Amino acid sequence: MANSNLKSQVVHVPLRMCIACRVKKPKKELIRLVLSEKGVVVDVDGKINGRGANICPSENCFSVAVERNIFSQTFKQNLKNLDIASLKKNFDSAIEQKKFREGKENIVFRVNKDEAEVKVSKKLTKK
Ligand SMILES: [Zn+2]
Repeated sequence: MANSNLKSQVVHVPLRMCIACRVKKPKKELIRLVLSEKGVVVDVDGKINGRGANICPSENCFSVAVERNIFSQTFKQNLKNLDIASLKKNFDSAIEQKKFREGKENIVFRVNKDEAEVKVSKKLTKK
């Protein structure tokens, strides 16, 4: 059984479907939206509980979702009062964060040394 080692090397990539274009993509390539108490929010870290939906990080898919009222359909709620403007804002910033995490763009952080140290020590004391 020379191939038995290969199996353990197969990485399972969870796929999710974009609510707008219905293309299946790896979960991490999509933006997760969650219906929370505050309405529909962008779940950047994947930590918000609630009914979730996934959408491509693309302007096009976002506007398709808005035009076809896909948010209401997906969350099975009448989201007439959905604040599209602020959702779009969060959506855009989530895209920026994704780009940064994937290292597609070089973003230089100008944080002064003291601030950086404060952040580190806060993290440490959390534990
Ligand atoms: Zn899409």
